[in-house]
Amino acid sequence: MKYYILFGPPGAGKGTQAGAIAEKFNLKHVSTGELLRAEIAAGTELGQQAKTLIEAGNLVPDSVVEGMIENLFNTLKGVDGFLLDGFPRTLGQAEDLDKMLSARGEKVDAVISLMISDSTIRERLKGRAAIEGRADDANEETISNRIATYHQKTEPLINFYKAAGKYHELNGDGKSIEEVRALVFDLLNQL
Ligand code: AMP
Repeated sequence: MKYYILFGPPGAGKGTQAGAIAEKFNLKHVSTGELLRAEIAAGTELGQQAKTLIEAGNLVPDSVVEGMIENLFNTLKGVDGFLLDGFPRTLGQAEDLDKMLSARGEKVDAVISLMISDSTIRERLKGRAAIEGRADDANEETISNRIATYHQKTEPLINFYKAAGKYHELNGDGKSIEEVRALVFDLLNQL
């Protein structure tokens, strides 16, 4: 099994690119954000707990997302691998993912990082709020907190995966969806 991480700040295009990548390489696209939004929509207890954190632009606890991921690793069959989108997002999650995979005799194969500047993040999230109606895109304060959370908690993963020799960065600023997709396909074909 292949384990790829689609990495990048909010608005970098992870969700937009993931479907086509997953289809082409027969991977299961797993978005922790989407799984959490489904829990909120279904009104589960987990969803109710996650809602306040998500709408404030904060992360949900590591144990919550790790439980969802492990559950999928245990149950999904018939794919060549996983494309993790929005996970891991903290060093703790990255370390726990390594443990989870090594217990199965597996490892992270590569991290594909879609990088954009903070000003592009703001532009894209505001544009997306109008289209998708996500509560955590709609207000300036939440967006600022998500950007700050990304820099504080998620950005350190870049060095973690660079040290492991797994980090591959593509710059998405000023590029169209199709241009970024072509870059990702090229990269995955070379790996
Ligand atoms: P996303 O759809 O990836 O932008 O995620 C939306 C929100 O869900 C994030 O801002 C977090 O509040 C929460 N979330 C998604 N993935 C994670 C994760 N791996 N760890 C903690 N919180 C997460």
